[in-house]
Amino acid sequence: MPSQDRVALREAITSLPAYVPGARGGVGRFSYKLSSNENPFPPLPGVLAAVADAAADLNRYPDMYAGELVEAIAALHGVKPGRVVVGNGSVAVLEFVLDAVCETGDEVVYPWRSFEAYPIVVSVAGASGVPVPLLPDGRHDLDAMLAAVTDRTRAVLLCSPNNPTGPALAGDDIRSFLAAVPSHVLVLLDEAYTEFVRDPRAIDGVPLVDDAPNVVVLRTFSKAYGLAGLRVGYAVARTRLADGFRAASTPFGVNALAQVAALESLRERPALLARVDELVAERDRVTSALAAHGWDLPDAQGNFVWFGLGERTSAFAKACVEEGVIVRPFGAEGARVTIGEREANDVVIDVARRFLS
Ligand SMILES: *Cc1c(COP(=O)(O)O)cnc(C)c1O
Repeated sequence: MPSQDRVALREAITSLPAYVPGARGGVGRFSYKLSSNENPFPPLPGVLAAVADAAADLNRYPDMYAGELVEAIAALHGVKPGRVVVGNGSVAVLEFVLDAVCETGDEVVYPWRSFEAYPIVVSVAGASGVPVPLLPDGRHDLDAMLAAVTDRTRAVLLCSPNNPTGPALAGDDIRSFLAAVPSHVLVLLDEAYTEFVRDPRAIDGVPLVDDAPNVVVLRTFSKAYGLAGLRVGYAVARTRLADGFRAASTPFGVNALAQVAALESLRERPALLARVDELVAERDRVTSALAAHGWDLPDAQGNFVWFGLGERTSAFAKACVEEGVIVRPFGAEGARVTIGEREANDVVIDVARRFLS
């Protein structure tokens, strides 16, 4: 019943789907958490030391726009610092990208199932979400996404590799897609897992920003760099757009510890990428074992695999938990399982094997 005597929340907020975080382990119970696509490696000693050092200055505000970090990110990608915008995790960056371009009622097209933050940030920005179902093999249906673009479309979100299904978008497909999308529609390419991609046809988004003025690329320190707990992500875009995103961002949005940790991680990038190589080798071991047992899974290009189990999803998740491994079920669609510690991955292989027989 509408009430006149209490503060009303916006309809877009009260109707939001909840962001369900990956389950955490029960207290006192031994378990592996393969439910949030986290990096199983602890921070590098140099990163921990930089954070401990910076903690002595916590009475000071951080550098408002994280200038040193922005320069290091820009140098990594060979772009001008003005094209880089950082935020409190790439989800926060996505929020202010949409806040900066969406008027109330504008449409934002995104693949589905995909990252569960998408419907939430779209609604909070006042826009209206247009989810486009994935193809049966877990890939984006780019033709259907193109067909979903209307006069009211302000942005299209693409996720490569797609969380939770795994395939990466092909460079050729994205270039044709961009050629067909009107240039006033922002195309955001979320590349949270790009460091894990080994598909040679996969898109590398950052160079696209040179070719197409409407492209925005989103990256994060949460996955390959293992800094999920500190929250740092960034967008790369043409300077005019980047200026707008920065204007819409939270002042002092990246905290002081996150700034030094991300900077140190860029300095120690080779060591972190060596860990990514180990996780990719582990991913390939897991997918080969599963294929040998008869599983036909979508192409896994991130640090996770997708079991499209339908109605059997929750039974599978339960069987994993009983063996001490927490995975991420999505309703009656499927379960996403992060590549983690070798012992944990072995449990998953074993449960999955039993599940087929
Ligand atoms: C994990 C993830 C992110 C990263 O979010 P942060 O806010 O940077 O931790 C972004 N996009 C997708 C698709 C993800 O899976």
